[in-house]
Amino acid sequence: MAAVILGCDTNGLHRWDYGAVVAQVAQSGRFLDRWRVGFCPDILPGTEAWLLVQGGNDAGSGLIGHGSVASEPYQAAAGDDSDANDWFIAVAFDALLPLGEQIRPGTLREAFPGDLWAKANGPSLVTLPPSSWPVLQRLWREYGPTTPDPTEVVAGTFPPGGVSHIQVNRFERDPDARRACLAFHGTSCAACGFSFESAYGEAGTGATAVHHVVPPAMIGSGYQLDPIADLIPLCHNCHAVAHGANPARTVSELRSIMSAAGHVRGEVVTDLALQAQEDARRILGGGKT
Ligand SMILES: [Zn+2]
Ligand SMILES: [Zn+2]
Repeated sequence: MAAVILGCDTNGLHRWDYGAVVAQVAQSGRFLDRWRVGFCPDILPGTEAWLLVQGGNDAGSGLIGHGSVASEPYQAAAGDDSDANDWFIAVAFDALLPLGEQIRPGTLREAFPGDLWAKANGPSLVTLPPSSWPVLQRLWREYGPTTPDPTEVVAGTFPPGGVSHIQVNRFERDPDARRACLAFHGTSCAACGFSFESAYGEAGTGATAVHHVVPPAMIGSGYQLDPIADLIPLCHNCHAVAHGANPARTVSELRSIMSAAGHVRGEVVTDLALQAQEDARRILGGGKT
């Protein structure tokens, strides 16, 4: 693992419609763009990347984003108005703060003293010493973005190897579609029947996940989400197991896995029931076991 700071001035953010990019990352969890580095950096895909904006003053500066390097360095034309080539890396941003809410330089210097932050002045790429990684993760946990779903982990708040991400798609994050799905199907898990409300009362409200059941291959550009046919409620256990395979496991696959393991509707099957199943199998199998 390695980690770098990508420094940029505010123009670096404004070449995007930055507000729209923040909204896209909040909704889909990802924004991919090329990042001009100006030289061939010694950097590998998967490197953690922290975005540091350097405005004219402290109020316009600070740590504003997190992502990961998504390509080897490559050369490409620098812009529309120029034939000259420059060096780029692709960066997938997965957590961004709105401009104005960035973690200010004073807070950064206090948490990690030294000249690290000054080195990342303007367009730059600075390698982060490993001792700074947990500091950045802690700051990002404290001041970084939040997610609407409390069970989701904000990218950058823990070591990358320390959390496994369920790769949900953007249809599962759409709050309106989620509301329509749960209003129709109810909030109990469609696979195991678990109800967060019955188990946890008021504290369980809103904890149900919604799962998108349309295979990605069937989603063309003209695809329109039907929140009732295409989304189903799942508890987080079933959701994790559904996404544990690619393509995701279906509800009937989840049910047969659970019944094969002796778990039905969140209950462990009793010895008596197991004995009855055993008897039934023997009878159906004509006495052979
Ligand atoms: Zn379930
Ligand atoms: Zn899902």
